[in-house]
Amino acid sequence: MKQKISLGFFPTPLYELKNLSSLYNNYRIFIKRDDHNGVATGGNKIRKLEYLLYDALNKGCDTVITAGAQQSNHCRLTAASCARENLKCYLLLGGEKPAHYSGNLLLSQLLGAEIHFTGDNRKGEDIDDLVKELIKKGRKPYVIPYGGTNETGALGYVDAVAEMKEQLTEMKQTIDYIIFASSSGGTHAGLIAGSAINQLKSKLIGINIDKDETNGNALENIITDIVPKILNTYGIKPEIKRNDIHLLKDYDKAGYGVVTEHEKRAIKLLAESEGILLDPVYTARAFHGMIDLMERRVLKPGSNVLFLHTGGLPANFHYAENLYP
Ligand SMILES: *Cc1c(COP(=O)(O)O)cnc(C)c1O
Repeated sequence: MKQKISLGFFPTPLYELKNLSSLYNNYRIFIKRDDHNGVATGGNKIRKLEYLLYDALNKGCDTVITAGAQQSNHCRLTAASCARENLKCYLLLGGEKPAHYSGNLLLSQLLGAEIHFTGDNRKGEDIDDLVKELIKKGRKPYVIPYGGTNETGALGYVDAVAEMKEQLTEMKQTIDYIIFASSSGGTHAGLIAGSAINQLKSKLIGINIDKDETNGNALENIITDIVPKILNTYGIKPEIKRNDIHLLKDYDKAGYGVVTEHEKRAIKLLAESEGILLDPVYTARAFHGMIDLMERRVLKPGSNVLFLHTGGLPANFHYAENLYP
């Protein structure tokens, strides 16, 4: 069994959104607050980083490299986690250096990461060159893949399922659907594997955020690759077919990081009804998807729906002009 370090505060809260449930009175709506795990404004990447940084430290590495968008939550949380573990952190971020830093980029800088801007290479294409350069300088780099997604990082969401199962048992509550934003696939893969391991029967529905592929890989392929690797280590015979992966692509058409009326409406709805802040890139898009599926009664009326809040708060400040007025 793989080991991990402790970075976040767990379990994160799980509770019913009572006001929202009365607005959509055919459903009971619950939330799991992984935005609320205590590290540098929180988010889902912390669960992955607990496993990934254990691996890095265990291998004697002194430097971590990862890549993403300038507003990457994963990069911000990697910077924060490296600060805590005394690891040097390099972030390779797509696009050109902006005149002013804001949102996640600002926080990554404040958290001490060494930031390189990589132009059109937006998904870590330049990592290998940096690795070679650092090794020449006598450093021991550890590469964290895009979004922290591989069979090590995804273990964080196997644990999340066990945690939710325990909370739901305690509450004597069953959940019919779990809805979440899916982008690099690690969260989704971990949830699928964790559900098999913990026999959680809720239907998992990922809302696809980014219509582009990661390094030429469809998200379903990434997920079907990771899940059996995890299940094997638990001695479970993997039976995962592509059709078992529910990944809805109805909400990604505007493109990654484009804030539309849908995201705006979702942010306002949850903020004004429950005092909870979504982010404009991931969770607002997924939350809009959930609301749409309820309004169109695609989710069975009378069912219990859980929204997994995966974080992203700082991006609101970067997208301020798109959010207000
Ligand atoms: C990264 C991220 C996701 C998507 O998680 P993956 O494991 O990459 O699919 C969802 N929400 C937020 C806020 C994120 O930062």
